[in-house]
Amino acid sequence: MSNPCLKCPTNQSCCRELNGLTINYAEYNRHFENKITHLTVSRKGKLFEISSLGNGPCPNWDQQCQVYGNRPMDCDLYPYTMGKIFEGDGEVYATYHSRTECPLTNQLLGPRENAEKLIRNFLENTYGEHCKITVRYDEGAARIYHLARRAASKAKSLLVGDAT
Ligand code: SF4
Ligand code: SF4
Repeated sequence: MSNPCLKCPTNQSCCRELNGLTINYAEYNRHFENKITHLTVSRKGKLFEISSLGNGPCPNWDQQCQVYGNRPMDCDLYPYTMGKIFEGDGEVYATYHSRTECPLTNQLLGPRENAEKLIRNFLENTYGEHCKITVRYDEGAARIYHLARRAASKAKSLLVGDAT
């Protein structure tokens, strides 16, 4: 399977600086469980959010993604990205938006329906098909939340760097 990110002008920055990838338990087991020493992992309900220690590369990256054909949904989704996910009583509400930091957005951005289908399948696999799932495109609030989280994470990694 060809990987268009090999032409990335930022040298695949999203894989080389893994920060806040959202995965489910099956993806965690498949791709990350035996690489835990390279990661920080926080669990949010049935989902995991993972980042590389010290803002380093994804443990599956070596010049390129080594699991590309079977990569986690959140990687496949780029340059769309998930925003907030709320878990309720038998219900999940998720937002997504287009990740405009990607320099190849114009080439890579597929139709929204495809992105929404990927997210819906992912949530069904994670929460079960009887869960009520709502997926909404939300460039506004979700994007502000995403950028604020990135800025906070960057500031944290700078502080850690200063302390070492
Ligand atoms: S998704 Fe965009 S920023 Fe990420 S590696 Fe691919 S081209 Fe680069
Ligand atoms: S699994 Fe592959 S595509 Fe996803 S962040 Fe890691 S190296 Fe990049």
